[in-house]
Amino acid sequence: MFIKKIGIDLGTCLSVVFIPQKGVVLQEPSVVAVTLAENKILAVGEAAKEMVGRTPDTIRVYRPLKDGVIADYRVTQAMLRYFMDKTLGHLRFFKPELMIGVPAGATSTERRAVIEAGQVAGAKAVYIAKEPILAAIGAGIPINSCSGHMIVDIGGGTSEVAVISLGGIVTCHSVRTAGDKMDLAISDYIKKKYNLAIGEQTTEEIKIKIGTALPEKEEKFLEIRGRDLILGLPRNIKISSNEICEAISDVLTEIIQVVKQVLRDTPPELSADIMDKGMVLSGGGALLGNIDGLIAQATGVPCFLAEEPLLCVAKGTGVVLENLEVYKKSIMSKK
Ligand code: ADP
Ligand code: MG
Repeated sequence: MFIKKIGIDLGTCLSVVFIPQKGVVLQEPSVVAVTLAENKILAVGEAAKEMVGRTPDTIRVYRPLKDGVIADYRVTQAMLRYFMDKTLGHLRFFKPELMIGVPAGATSTERRAVIEAGQVAGAKAVYIAKEPILAAIGAGIPINSCSGHMIVDIGGGTSEVAVISLGGIVTCHSVRTAGDKMDLAISDYIKKKYNLAIGEQTTEEIKIKIGTALPEKEEKFLEIRGRDLILGLPRNIKISSNEICEAISDVLTEIIQVVKQVLRDTPPELSADIMDKGMVLSGGGALLGNIDGLIAQATGVPCFLAEEPLLCVAKGTGVVLENLEVYKKSIMSKK
């Protein structure tokens, strides 16, 4: 089968490739490894992420997208090409059409950079749409109806909160506070409380395995290994889910402030719709234990998790590609 359309969620943390009629075909970290001397790309995706925290000083491993926009153009474009090659093979008979999600707050220059990166990577046409809209579509929300829908996308670099009605964004705010800041808060907490330095991958693992947004009656525990800051030697400690809850509470408060801000700025008719139907959570941060409970408690608005939160934006790109006519209002620019 020749693949003519590809949708890509080019996330700060995770990139997901979706092909209409096939579904998600690739899901890899948005990470690259580059040699410092020659500036050559050594590895992309999973292979590069495994190197994090383990490289000699001749190799740099990093994420070329910052806060959801392209911070390093050349490397982002190489990454995009890698994802396309991996899904399409090197031999292509057709140039595919590409649909890429961009943050709602991206500037026109940033959007142009995404379009160009797609063209250089070998696309025939590049469409872009705002991520909250794609996330909502991917979560199965009927965005073209005249009723208000609220989507809260908590990713790695940013949290974006939007109210959508009639296929467009009515109110939207975003903060550069999301999963990465939670990781930072966790490693700081452990450093202060236990004098223990832990690596990035361990920190994320703690959050994913035992992280919780609300204190739990039945705590979970995890044994972790780090480096003692005083003795400099490896040491193990046992950490509890409620300690993680305490560590990330300030970060969560910041995210809730944004949700409240959007609720305040939403026209009353739409607020009423949202109160009835509740808000939908997407992005990797939605998988944090009890985050729906915390947001519902803090705002008084019911809160639901999207199905497969990490894949919402990618699924949305697929739906839009298959129904370009239906969603033409939501597509921002076309080349
Ligand atoms: P982006 O769109 O920026 O690439 P994603 O939506 O892919 O972000 O989400 C990535 C973030 O979600 C990371 O910070 C990751 O640690 C976090 N994450 C993934 N799974 C979980 C989980 N089960 N619990 C808490 N956080 C998670
Ligand atoms: Mg995202």
